[in-house]
Amino acid sequence: MINIILLGAPGAGKGTQANRLSKAYNLTHISTGDVIREEIRNNTNFGKKVKSFADKGLLVPDELIIEIIESRLHKEGNGYLLDGFPRNLKQAISLDTMIREKKLDYPYIFYIEVTEDELVKRLTNRRYCPKCNKIYSLINNAPENNEICDKCRVKLLKRKDDEVTIIKKRFEVFKSETYPLLEYYSKSEKFYKVEGDSSEDKVYKSIVDIIK
Ligand code: AMP
Repeated sequence: MINIILLGAPGAGKGTQANRLSKAYNLTHISTGDVIREEIRNNTNFGKKVKSFADKGLLVPDELIIEIIESRLHKEGNGYLLDGFPRNLKQAISLDTMIREKKLDYPYIFYIEVTEDELVKRLTNRRYCPKCNKIYSLINNAPENNEICDKCRVKLLKRKDDEVTIIKKRFEVFKSETYPLLEYYSKSEKFYKVEGDSSEDKVYKSIVDIIK
């Protein structure tokens, strides 16, 4: 069983690496950001509760997020991959409790480290297809036609929280809430920092080389 936590600032490439790793190792991919966006799109009660936080770039209350993980994390299949969770110390401590109670193997923890200039460039150039959800980068993974999805032929959109003022807020939240987790996890034997400014393939290879 391979269990993985991906940590990194917004735009570090957690989602991209999570998609590749979960396919390659057949892992259950749990992206709290994706769950939240879907609930908001479907206008569910949960979506209504979390929308104002997500739109402003703030963390959603811990109880709600922990509930998502609690209901999805099981000892089955080839393992789990957490993308976007934990985001603060309280969540990390609850996760440790869940791992103990559910008798799960302790995960690898990868921190994908990317410089702030690169993060801003990536986030402001990120677009998604509202129909198939494919993520594009206008810099290194642009669609064939100007901002139109290659597959669905609909206009690509920018995530609401990828506007510059919200990006700044998300960085602040990352620095104050999530960054301290590196200290918390540095005691683990399975904690690794990965250089994330390089290409998607290189980052992927650095992670896979450690898991092997
Ligand atoms: P992401 O796609 O991971 O950047 O998440 C988008 C937004 O969802 C964040 O800015 C938060 O508002 C919310 N979110 C995602 N994961 C968490 C989490 N673990 N704790 C609190 N809020 C979260």
